[in-house]
Amino acid sequence: MTAVDLGFPRVPGTRGSSRAPRPANPHLIDTFGRVATDLRVSLTDRCNLRCTYCMPAEGLDWMPGEQVLTDDELVRLMRIAVEQLGVTDIRLTGGEPLLRPGLEDLVARITALSPRPRLSMTTNGIGLAKRAAGLAAAGLNRINVSLDTVDPETFKTITRRDRLSHVIAGLAAARDAGMAPVKVNAVLIRGLNETEAVPLLKFCLAEGYHLRFIEQMPLDAQHGWNRGEMITAAEILSMLQTSFELTPFPSARGGAPAERWLVDGGPGDVGVIASVTRPFCAACERTRLTADGAVRSCLFSNDETDLRSLVRAGARDEEVADAWRATMWGKLAGHEINDAGFAQPIRPMSAIGG
Ligand code: SF4
Repeated sequence: MTAVDLGFPRVPGTRGSSRAPRPANPHLIDTFGRVATDLRVSLTDRCNLRCTYCMPAEGLDWMPGEQVLTDDELVRLMRIAVEQLGVTDIRLTGGEPLLRPGLEDLVARITALSPRPRLSMTTNGIGLAKRAAGLAAAGLNRINVSLDTVDPETFKTITRRDRLSHVIAGLAAARDAGMAPVKVNAVLIRGLNETEAVPLLKFCLAEGYHLRFIEQMPLDAQHGWNRGEMITAAEILSMLQTSFELTPFPSARGGAPAERWLVDGGPGDVGVIASVTRPFCAACERTRLTADGAVRSCLFSNDETDLRSLVRAGARDEEVADAWRATMWGKLAGHEINDAGFAQPIRPMSAIGG
């Protein structure tokens, strides 16, 4: 196994050691010179699909209701993030965020924060057809919908639900409600849907959606991830190039997870998020809040800080902010998936959020 060089700048004298004294800085800095401005918030660990690469058919033991942050607690933590910690972008995730009761009101409260964060959401699209207009009216204007195939039988095999038409209708409703961009997130798995790359791109180009392929990551609840089953970025690109001409996207990538290409000269584009084979941790701008109030410095962290107990114990905003800063100061260099000693996080993706 070759260790992939993550290509990090170093903050002099700190070299990844969180024991180094943290300089006085209000933002979510770490010892590698990164600053987290993109907050991912998991609203629930529950989901109404059973994707084979995410959870078992019977689902999981969902978090008890009293452990899940209330709307007031969520909005307070997001307010602290935008007012004191320099967060500019918030992405709502799950499990499945559309299962969160009162989501439209929550969206309206988030977009009323000042400074106003850019708000987006990642959803499986089930139920979106009925909710898109209300969510857009509440202030949600960017959305990613997970869709790994445009074939109904393959959809049923992957998600264990016969709901492809619901997702397709949800996408159209989001576009018609004026959300932009409307992105499609797709995971390809060998022996399951690897032949779907070209049909998915044709569908998205025809409908005006922005397709993002994501390499499958070792975050499933069953801990069954197998590198050999993962379709790599290189394989995805070579499959697409059998039908399309791909040229590098003109604008700089920055901290965005996706590498992008223009398709057939544009304006259509396609992106690949190559978390495993081409890690982008050196430019990571993300911090995460779980549905039960834990802050995580990285998707693959094996430690996290419980902000819920702090909040419920009556902590002041400054104390909560300091705990959040301290967690991010200790952020590791990257995910270590390609390192010999890699240990998959205990918490599954469905309880962390994308
Ligand atoms: S794996 Fe962790 S450090 Fe790397 S990009 Fe993802 S969240 Fe950031």
